[in-house]
Amino acid sequence: MEFEFDLIVVGAGSGGLAAAKRAASYGAKVAIIEVNKIGGTCVLRGCVPKKLMVYAANNRRNMVSAEGYGLINKEITFNSSVLLKNVREEVSRLSHIHSNSLKKLNVTVFEGLGRFKNQNTVEVVCPKTRNILRKVSANKVLISVGGKPKKLEIPGVDLAWSSDDIFELQDFPKTLLIVGGGYIACEFASIFKNLGTEVIQIIRGQNLLSGFDKDLSECLKKSMTSLGIDLKFNNQLKSIKKIKGKLQSTLVSGSKFLTNNILIATGREPALKELHLDTLNLKMDGIYLDVNEVNQTSNSNIFAIGDIIKRPNLTPVAIEQGRVFADNYFADRRRKVNYQNIPKAVFTIPEISTVGLSEEEATEIYSELNIKIFKCSFTPMSNTFKKNKSKCMLKLVVNKKNDKILGCHMFGEAASEIIQMVSVSLNAGITKKDFDNTMALHPTISEEFVTMYG
Ligand code: NDP
Repeated sequence: MEFEFDLIVVGAGSGGLAAAKRAASYGAKVAIIEVNKIGGTCVLRGCVPKKLMVYAANNRRNMVSAEGYGLINKEITFNSSVLLKNVREEVSRLSHIHSNSLKKLNVTVFEGLGRFKNQNTVEVVCPKTRNILRKVSANKVLISVGGKPKKLEIPGVDLAWSSDDIFELQDFPKTLLIVGGGYIACEFASIFKNLGTEVIQIIRGQNLLSGFDKDLSECLKKSMTSLGIDLKFNNQLKSIKKIKGKLQSTLVSGSKFLTNNILIATGREPALKELHLDTLNLKMDGIYLDVNEVNQTSNSNIFAIGDIIKRPNLTPVAIEQGRVFADNYFADRRRKVNYQNIPKAVFTIPEISTVGLSEEEATEIYSELNIKIFKCSFTPMSNTFKKNKSKCMLKLVVNKKNDKILGCHMFGEAASEIIQMVSVSLNAGITKKDFDNTMALHPTISEEFVTMYG
């Protein structure tokens, strides 16, 4: 049967764009359907605008603590509307770059919601009127619609922000209550506090960043507390009420807080609702679409990548899934995504970065007897003349039997830059002896990784 296109991509986020561009570069006739601006979560409402805000927070932190270096900043003013405007402009610029590169590759862009009519036909629907604007057909369809913030089921929840709302702000609030202890909650707590907002953070468990190595989470807890972020563990938000222009949060414990705003960051979920997948009866894996190792769903014409499948929900993972999909199906290159040793970072200040197994995971898999931990914690030289003497922490988890590095963890400045490179060596099967045989580069923080003995 003849179709209008070889491939329809539903969702122009990082993964969808990567797949559409790679498939088009092989000569495939590609259409992409997107309801928002081109770019998706990472470019428009995630990694990129967030990281620009992290730079702002980092700059202010350095300015307020530069006196010991002879740099006196009597009055540092922060105009949040300037930052927010500049961030929005940069995001638009990047969105346009993506649109232009789609144009250059002859990818047809349809604006609207994508809705399945059948396995080869997707309707482009107006999000406001729900009118069908167009029907598009293709041999293959790739779903890459990404995720959306999970909503808490509590009274008054609509008064709170999700992370999406942050990037639409005109100004920063004076006080903010943040719910959650994961990536988004910690990153925004750090950004807002470092830029002058008073922050209260409500965490339902006993630790920040559950799933990360405990030492990293402890370092972050100490650092956020010393910064003045009011961390409330073992508690949950019960309801929100508007009182005299402010928001009153009531916690399960009965405590009440009055803040200008509330940010809920309790996870994200696949944004599959608008696709009308019920017509296709695709196999699910919980709330995610079930796919095989080449990202094929239970329908052989339909594929899924990114935050809608049960794999690490990270931008580079989605991009690689998109490229591998295109390589396999439009260039006959037999490739698979390598899910081993995916480096991760949480962009707090200082930041956390990690690759491989945490001490807890390694203990569970290999038992405590079979692993060895190398760890050091010290005040980095950059903090010598600062009032804030926060420490950094470096940790290696080693398999005693074969000396292989199982995990590498770091809390401190530039941790993400360092761990990105360490992840290359973990993928190559590096041993502790290889670290020991490597000359240190002095004076740096990361030299401690090659000088740890025990
Ligand atoms: P996370 O899964 O990282 O964290 C969710 C947090 O909310 C956890 O502390 C969790 O607690 C808590 N939580 C979940 N449900 C409830 C509830 N009902 N009541 C109270 N607390 C709750 O999600 P985020 O929203 O922070 O981020 C979503 C995803 O986005 C991340 O998992 C990551 O994939 C991606 N991301 C990546 C970034 C990066 O790479 N730097 C930055 C931002 C996002 P508990 O731990 O007890 O489950």
